[in-house]
Amino acid sequence: MAQEKTEKRSLSPEELKQRLTSEQYHVTQEQGTERPFANRYWDFKGKGVYHCLVCGNDLFGSYAKYDSGTGWPSFYEPLTSSAVEEHEDRGLLMVRTEVVCGRCGSHLGHVFNDGPEPSGLRYCMNSASLDFEERDDEGRDLRGENARGGQKGEV
Ligand SMILES: [Zn+2]
Repeated sequence: MAQEKTEKRSLSPEELKQRLTSEQYHVTQEQGTERPFANRYWDFKGKGVYHCLVCGNDLFGSYAKYDSGTGWPSFYEPLTSSAVEEHEDRGLLMVRTEVVCGRCGSHLGHVFNDGPEPSGLRYCMNSASLDFEERDDEGRDLRGENARGGQKGEV
């Protein structure tokens, strides 16, 4: 049945409120932002994969994590081009690009153009949206051919 694919997407706000902490709910469902330097993964250096906290979607590999100095976990690329979706976010007097989970639409953070090589992008994420799983390959085996960082410099 097609039930399984949509199961997690259809969690109601009530169900999510029960499953998530109030901060996790605020960040993932209400586009909240957690405090810098006081969150779970900003300075975390484990080798593995970061999943969407809400639906388990594979989002980022630790190979792409770097110290941005911002106090939030930052990555130069998602594992695949479909792992996340990006939307224009017009709020707080500036236009930013919001990043949401490509599967369930949970808010993850924002992407900026001041990241390091090879992509030049900075995916500034909230730890409250992420769930880390240890993996020796740091997510490289899950990396899609379309991951943006691979496009430059390969030719
Ligand atoms: Zn998700």
